[in-house]
Amino acid sequence: MTLEIVQFPCLSDNYGVLLHDTASGRTASIDVPEAAPVLAALAEKGWTLTDIFTTHHHADHVQGNLEVKAATGCTITGPVDEADRIPGIDITVKDGDSFDFAGQTVRVIATPGHTLGHIIYHLPDAKLAFVGDTLFALGCGRVLEGTLEQMFDSVEKVGALPSDTVLYCGHEYTEANLRFALSIEPDNAALVTRGEEIRRLRAAGQPTLPTTVAAERSTNPFLRSDAPSVRAAAGLPDGEPAEVFAATRRAKDVFKG
Ligand SMILES: [Zn+2]
Repeated sequence: MTLEIVQFPCLSDNYGVLLHDTASGRTASIDVPEAAPVLAALAEKGWTLTDIFTTHHHADHVQGNLEVKAATGCTITGPVDEADRIPGIDITVKDGDSFDFAGQTVRVIATPGHTLGHIIYHLPDAKLAFVGDTLFALGCGRVLEGTLEQMFDSVEKVGALPSDTVLYCGHEYTEANLRFALSIEPDNAALVTRGEEIRRLRAAGQPTLPTTVAAERSTNPFLRSDAPSVRAAAGLPDGEPAEVFAATRRAKDVFKG
């Protein structure tokens, strides 16, 4: 059993992701930002879609659901707490659930904050996680429905996955996130080095994703609320990590990079 993954741009800054098992042919789309690029990617690979795994209800993650379902007959799985806002949903899942994908265990982890029902999909044996709009390269999702405290806990759940876990995220926001991250930790050598690579990739029109838990732990300010430099930038040298995270998230919301 071998998993193959393709990632491709959708809309202005979303990513579509297809996960394919070569032995069984089972193929999942992680969210459907828009139908046409997903159907085109399937056609290009010669894959037949069997599943959609939805992370959360926002339009730029579900608006292609019905068109893709009509074209492929796939089954749509998504968070139970947002079931009424996810077009075409067939199977609801919640925190702690797990299910099989072509012999791989898929763990469902609730990550409320960006939306209240947001979930991520973790495949521990494949060392993969599809984190939607919870964590981005060098950033995290805006807190639109939940509390900053919830978002802190959710981001920490991603950061607590094994360090070699590969993370697929919903958006290419990395270059803007880099500007903010460097404003917080200008002396973080790992961040400075990563920043050079990010600028090189974007100048060449290349994606900066996927990322890894290890890369984010060393450079993403939202996973570094215990670092003295991040605490200092938040003005909370002795603050609890959750307080530091909240201050950093608020600062990002108004950052003019
Ligand atoms: Zn979203």
